[in-house]
Amino acid sequence: MKAVAVRPGQANSIHMADLPMPRLDEIPEGQGVLVKVLKVGVDATDREINDALYGNPPPGSDFLVLGHESFGVVVEVGKNVRNLKPGDFVTCTVRRPGTSIYDRIGRSDITSEEVYYERGINLLHGFLTEYFVDDAEFVVKMPIGLKHLHVLAEPMSCAAKAVQQAFEAQRRLQVWEPQLAFVTGAGQIGLLTTLALKLRGFDVYTFARGPKPCLKSEIVEAMDAHYVSTKETSLEEVAQETGKADLIVDATGSSTVAFKTMEVLGHNGVIVWTGITGGTHQLEVPADAINLDWVLGNKLLLGSVNANRRHFEMGIADLALGEATYPNVIERILTTPVSGLDGYGEMMRLLVEDDQALKVFVEVAEA
Ligand code: BGC
Ligand code: ZN
Repeated sequence: MKAVAVRPGQANSIHMADLPMPRLDEIPEGQGVLVKVLKVGVDATDREINDALYGNPPPGSDFLVLGHESFGVVVEVGKNVRNLKPGDFVTCTVRRPGTSIYDRIGRSDITSEEVYYERGINLLHGFLTEYFVDDAEFVVKMPIGLKHLHVLAEPMSCAAKAVQQAFEAQRRLQVWEPQLAFVTGAGQIGLLTTLALKLRGFDVYTFARGPKPCLKSEIVEAMDAHYVSTKETSLEEVAQETGKADLIVDATGSSTVAFKTMEVLGHNGVIVWTGITGGTHQLEVPADAINLDWVLGNKLLLGSVNANRRHFEMGIADLALGEATYPNVIERILTTPVSGLDGYGEMMRLLVEDDQALKVFVEVAEA
C-alpha cells in the first residue's frame, strides 16, 4: 500500500514508501476500526517535519508516514465496536497515550511526559496512505452533512480546545463575562478560532498581515468578525479604539506576535498561545511594564496543544453550528486540493511556496 513518508532528521526527504495493508486484529479486544482514507490535510507541522526540524519515526522504522489531519470512511469494525459502522465518515485523533496520569484518564493532550506519541508527527505513522486501523476510542464520527468540510475536523479540534481551555481556566475568576476577543493569525487555526468565538457571542478582531480585500478578510467578515491588516493598523491602535481584549488567541506561529499580544490584554483577561515556533528567535520586550501590568491585572497566559476526542466532538459541533450560522463560508478555507498520493511533491511545493494556499489537502480516494 502506498504511503507518503519522510526520513526524520534528513531535510527534504519526502518520498513514497510501502506499508502492509493494516488488519483489524492489530487492535486488541475487538475494538479495531479499519478506515479507507479519503482526504488528508497538511499544515506547517508537516512542512517542518520535512525540513527535519521536528518528528521521529516509529521504533524500528527509518521512515515516518506523514499526515495527521484525516478524513475517511469506515470499511470494517471489530466485534466490540458499538458506535461506528461500515460506511460512516470519520476523522481520527492524533495523539496516543503514554503512561502519565493524564494519559490514563483519556487526556493524552495534556500528558506530563516529555515524549509524546502522535500519528504522522512523532513515533507513530500518520494517515497519508490508503487505509489505516485504530482503536475505536480514537476514531471520531463526522456527520454526513459535514463531509464537505472533511480535513478541517482536526484543526477545528485544536481551535475548540484552545477556547475551551480559556473558559476552564477563567473559572478562577468566579464570574467572567468576556465580550471582546482578538485572534492573531488568519491561517486555518486563526480562522477556525474566529468561528468558535463568534459562535460564543464575542466581538472578534482577527489580525493578519495581508491588506484587504483578500480571501482571509472575506472569510473573517463573512463570519461577522473584523479583519485587521497589521500592515495598516497595529494591535495597539485597535486596542486604543476598542479597549483591551478579554481573550486573545495567538495562532501566528510568530513568537514576536505572541509576545506582542501581552500588551493588549485587559484586566482579568486570558491569552492562549497555539503557535508552534521551531526556531531560536530572540526578542527584547518591555519586561517591567508587562510584569507590572500582568500582576496588577491578574492576567493569565496559557499554552494549548493537540486535542483529545472530546475536543474533536466540540469542534465538529462548532462546524455544524458554524455551517448553519454562516452558510458556505467555512468551506472557503479548503483552497488547495492535490490529486492522489502520487502528488506528494506538488503537495509539499504548495505547502512551502504558495502563500495563497490557506489549506493544502490530498484527495486520496473517492468514497
Ligand atoms: C497538530 C497537533 C499536534 C501538534 C504538535 C499540530 O500540527 O495539529 O495535533 O499536537 O502539531 O505536534
Ligand atoms: Zn496540525
